[in-house]
Amino acid sequence: MVYILPLLSILIGYLIAILLRPKNKKNLKLLLAFSGSFLLTLTVTHLLPEVYASTEPLHHGGLEHDHSHSSSIGIFIMVGIVFQIILEYFSKGAEHGHVHLPHKMDAMPWLLFISLCIHALLEGMPLSQNLNLAWGIAIHHLPIAVILTTFFINAGMDKKKILFFMLVFSLMTPLGTYVSGSFVPLQKYYAEISAIVVGILFHISSTIIFESNEDHRFNLTKLGTIILGVIVAYFV
Ligand SMILES: [Zn+2]
Ligand SMILES: [Zn+2]
Repeated sequence: MVYILPLLSILIGYLIAILLRPKNKKNLKLLLAFSGSFLLTLTVTHLLPEVYASTEPLHHGGLEHDHSHSSSIGIFIMVGIVFQIILEYFSKGAEHGHVHLPHKMDAMPWLLFISLCIHALLEGMPLSQNLNLAWGIAIHHLPIAVILTTFFINAGMDKKKILFFMLVFSLMTPLGTYVSGSFVPLQKYYAEISAIVVGILFHISSTIIFESNEDHRFNLTKLGTIILGVIVAYFV
């Protein structure tokens, strides 16, 4: 399941874009808003406490508390946030459903492709111990796949290139999960890597929520969708 959910979500997103050619941007925006709050809730309710708990020093009976571990986790979270900001210089925000690319495109957008792949690969890493989060990543990548595929089709990009792009993108998260679960050196740094991913998810999901309210006008449907995301994630 951990492998299949994030893989399928991108392929389904690709198929939705190819077969249904969604015209209704409103629904996509709502799905984005939902995915943002869903992902953020899973991050703060599951991944974040888990990362801190895993670095809690074992109780040796001493009264002295060692705070160095927890504060280094915090730094890794910040590294994740800054890293994601840097990635977005290259991806132009594709990870949160933004595409700022030329409207006519023949060539593969390599910078976008590579930064999106690094993003998805890292996101896969904590999943080996976190099925809940696999749902979060899957629901976060579904609208992204629809938006990107639709954009590429409209930009006149070659169909084979689009398929290649989405196939590799869909394989990245499961690959990250596999690599982090099977390489001992990476397992040793599970907490640190997960903390970086927490930072990435913080930035991504809050950007999605922020951008879904870009005009800051009260929108009951959007607010409802965001609250729904929180509630659903709580019960996952
Ligand atoms: Zn953006
Ligand atoms: Zn992502």
